[in-house]
Amino acid sequence: MTADLVSSIVTACRRILPARRPLALHEPTLGEEERRQVDECIRSGWISTAGPFVDRFESAIGEYTGARHVVATVNGTSALHAALLAIGIEADDEVLVPSLTFVATANAISYCGAVPHFVDACPQTLGVDPAALNDYLSDSATTGESGPTNRATGRRIKALVVMHTFGHPADMEAIQAVADRWRIVVVEDAAESLGSKYRGRHTGTLGRIGVLSFNGNKIVSTGGGGAILADDERLARQARHLCTTARVDAGLRFVHDAIGYNYRLPSINAALGLAQLGRLPALLAAKRALAARYADAFAGIAGACFFRPTDFDESNHWLNTLILDEAHAERLDDVLGALESDGIGARPAWTPMHQLAIHAQAPRMPLPVVESLARRIVNLPSSPELAGLPLV
Ligand SMILES: *Cc1c(COP(=O)(O)O)cnc(C)c1O
Repeated sequence: MTADLVSSIVTACRRILPARRPLALHEPTLGEEERRQVDECIRSGWISTAGPFVDRFESAIGEYTGARHVVATVNGTSALHAALLAIGIEADDEVLVPSLTFVATANAISYCGAVPHFVDACPQTLGVDPAALNDYLSDSATTGESGPTNRATGRRIKALVVMHTFGHPADMEAIQAVADRWRIVVVEDAAESLGSKYRGRHTGTLGRIGVLSFNGNKIVSTGGGGAILADDERLARQARHLCTTARVDAGLRFVHDAIGYNYRLPSINAALGLAQLGRLPALLAAKRALAARYADAFAGIAGACFFRPTDFDESNHWLNTLILDEAHAERLDDVLGALESDGIGARPAWTPMHQLAIHAQAPRMPLPVVESLARRIVNLPSSPELAGLPLV
């Protein structure tokens, strides 16, 4: 029966995927418009951070997401770091963060000298579980005028980073209600969820500050790149300041009023991003079509379940995910190995952050859902091009 499961998963994938091999987990979609924009950028001479391309890219992101202020950065990790600094995260603060995430989310907290405090996932969204978090805080934190304190460590718990896993929106309304109750600032790691909305609002614009990534494997890529989204002008100004070496306006003189960072996006990457953003509606349509095909292909398979977000149409379906039943969790390596042998680049979930040696001492709530999911998740090739729709 279990040997059957492995081969029926491979067969289902073969049925809907193109014949060419190997298929990577996620590849960028690039065409003539990307070439044209980058060419224009080179001919203009403005290839570094000055010049019109970065401004245009920031405006385009603002228009698309509805964020009032956008700061383009060299990557999503730097965006997260600067966003956390901008909201006032300091050494020895604790920041609640999913254990089920890419390591960059936790790293950005550590860069501030703060301590990641790991929270469990909700099986319906794969994001932060608001009810479990609220119960946990009730048991383990004390409330104060300026927010909660971790009873065990005595450290302030200042913020909660929400991550929209594989592009699927977390339950922001319920999460915000818990955060408000505890006076915790919500930061959104929307690195994977460009194009995803929660109740009509773009992910990354629902918390106090949010970030996007335009890494090579994301839905829209600038080679490397990221962005900070905020409605609060003061916060956005502070983030921009930190990303531009904290240089103050002093005419021709070089004056810096803080230890800043060289985190601004170069123009040449912004030019690529402008072309990519123009393509986003088509990329999203392809992603939705591919997810629907996977859902259909796996519908008849016993022993595993294709993950469907609660609101299918509002996710960007960045990565498609098959979740093995508990009873078949021990077959995860067999499934990944069989797909790999067939040239189908499937990957497991990240090792949960709390299971990494670098975070052995980090505070955490009980993490049964993350631990269970991490043993059962199979991420499948998800390049937009695999839907077979015209894109370039
Ligand atoms: C990709 C990613 C990041 C980091 O983005 P980079 O641009 O690669 O630095 C952060 N968080 C999550 C969840 C990601 O998937």
